[in-house]
Amino acid sequence: TMQIFMPLNFLGFVYREIRGALANIENLFTLLSKSPGVIDNQDAKPLVISKGNVRFENVSFGYGPDRQILHNVSFRVPAGNKVAIVGPSGAGKSTIIKLLFRFYNADSGEIYIDEQPVSRSTQASLRQAIGIVPQDTVLFNDSIFENIRYGNPPASDEEVYQAIEHAHLSDFINALPQGKDTKVGERGLKLSGGEKQRVAIARTILKGAPILLFDEATSSLDSQSEHAILSAFREIAVGHTSIVIAHRLSTIVDADSIIVIQDGRVVEQGNHALLLANNGPYYHLWNTQQKVNSKDV
Ligand code: ADP
Ligand code: MG
Repeated sequence: TMQIFMPLNFLGFVYREIRGALANIENLFTLLSKSPGVIDNQDAKPLVISKGNVRFENVSFGYGPDRQILHNVSFRVPAGNKVAIVGPSGAGKSTIIKLLFRFYNADSGEIYIDEQPVSRSTQASLRQAIGIVPQDTVLFNDSIFENIRYGNPPASDEEVYQAIEHAHLSDFINALPQGKDTKVGERGLKLSGGEKQRVAIARTILKGAPILLFDEATSSLDSQSEHAILSAFREIAVGHTSIVIAHRLSTIVDADSIIVIQDGRVVEQGNHALLLANNGPYYHLWNTQQKVNSKDV
């Protein structure tokens, strides 16, 4: 049996190496476009994900020295839970997600994944462990099919088709002028914010990461497409640790826990029922949105 297993193990190894290398190319793009250059520690270790617990411990951060954005942010996301982050625009919600993905290093405090500090983990392993549906998805000048495969470049056509199905993108893609071969991106067909997010969901499905982050597209989306996108995300998040940033509170009432951020601080945390009963910041956000939404679809 050794003779049979050795080559299979070896192939598995080669496959992981290729995946790792491609993930690094992805990092390179990301770093070049967005990050001031986060460097692996000399003693950085690859993350070992056993469960997928996430913990922020007194995290403070500013993009520059003159203005602090996050102040002692602490919260936990137990493995398999879905946590929502809500709060006014500019409160620091996206910044929290960027720090977890380590686009930037925290100024103080630490972020742990399964009790391993993110600051001392290799970025390649961190980014392999996390699937992000960002607020604004980058599309390359290539077919929509290849743009989706980008979530996991060695994926087979069959796997890409399955991801398209799971992201509820089939009807949309079939209606495009050249179907799955339609060119998108800067020099191709422009997709709306919601369509891009569904491409990002399909990519995330292909990536198969244990931890999922969803940063809701701007509120320019109508509530119907927003609900459709979030329900697609909800389906793929089953059995995963997930963090969702939501503008419309009605989309996250089912979250295991809701973290309310104001001016870079956690001001409240609990489930929907508890936070409503608290009669605090969440309760007020909720009431304000109920009034606005009644004019919406
Ligand atoms: P939210 O997602 O809650 O709307 P963000 O986390 O995007 O808020 O932003 C928090 C604050 O940080 C805002 O005041 C924003 O202007 C600022 N900010 C965000 N990104 C950058 C950046 N790359 N450089 C400097 N300031 C930034
Ligand atoms: Mg944001």
